[in-house]
Formats: sequence, structure tokens, C-alpha cells
Amino acid sequence: MTRTTTDVQPSPSLAPGRNVFRLMQAMEDATIFRRARSMSLCIDCYQAPDGGRCDDHAVDLTLIAGYQQDLRELRDNLPT
Ligand SMILES: [Zn+2]
Repeated sequence: MTRTTTDVQPSPSLAPGRNVFRLMQAMEDATIFRRARSMSLCIDCYQAPDGGRCDDHAVDLTLIAGYQQDLRELRDNLPT
């Protein structure tokens, strides 16, 4: 028997409200991971101009900023 997308019912764990909190937790976890990673500079970081970061570690900072922005927007739009 062939199933179509209309045959598939979403699991209760995929309910919209729960997904938001799971996504927010994942972004918090990713922020912690990226923050720890960004604090352990590599040899390329020490050679970066102006005491900056290498491309790889600079991406960590960019991602942290993006996660924090997304988290603020999600928190601001949570139902009351
Ligand atoms: Zn580096």
C-alpha cells in the first residue's frame, strides 16, 4: 500500500508549541557549544590581523549572534 502525505498524521511531539521550545533549547545548546569553541583560539587566530579570529572561529561568533537574535524573536512571539 502506498502512503501519501495526507495519510501521515503529525506526532504529538511535533505539535507547533513543543517544536518552538525544542528549537529554542537547541539554539541555547548551540550557543553554549559555539561560545566554548570560540574561546579556544587556534594558531590561525593568533595570526589574524588586529587580534581577531581566524575564519573558522569568526564563524562561531557570527552564529552565536544569529542564535541570540533568533531566540529573542522567538521569545517575543511566544503566546502569552
Ligand atoms: Zn581560530
